[in-house]
Amino acid sequence: MPKFTCSPGPFRAGAHRSCEVEILDANGCEVARVVYPMVNRELSGCDVQEANAALLASAPGLLMALQDVEWGGSYRDEGGVEVHTCPWCGREKDMGHDWSCGLAMVIARATGGVA
Ligand SMILES: [Zn+2]
Repeated sequence: MPKFTCSPGPFRAGAHRSCEVEILDANGCEVARVVYPMVNRELSGCDVQEANAALLASAPGLLMALQDVEWGGSYRDEGGVEVHTCPWCGREKDMGHDWSCGLAMVIARATGGVA
């Protein structure tokens, strides 16, 4: 798999232009634009757009947090050796994630892997 690279984080919501909100990387370069969404009458399009922009701007931090906790579970085996596990699926790091692990799935999606 090719090395995962993206624009440097943290991302942030930038200027509102017309019906769009720009998402900027740590260097102030635009990486995405969030459009005013078509929503039903019970929701405000501005509120949904702001929520979408906030979620997209937090993506690099969310990915980093997920990768930090990916093998954050642990227990000690009979010999007292610490064995790291996935807090989602409970599998040991040496065995890899369970095929249905949601944590592995979202990390793979975010990094361009299969999931
Ligand atoms: Zn897992």
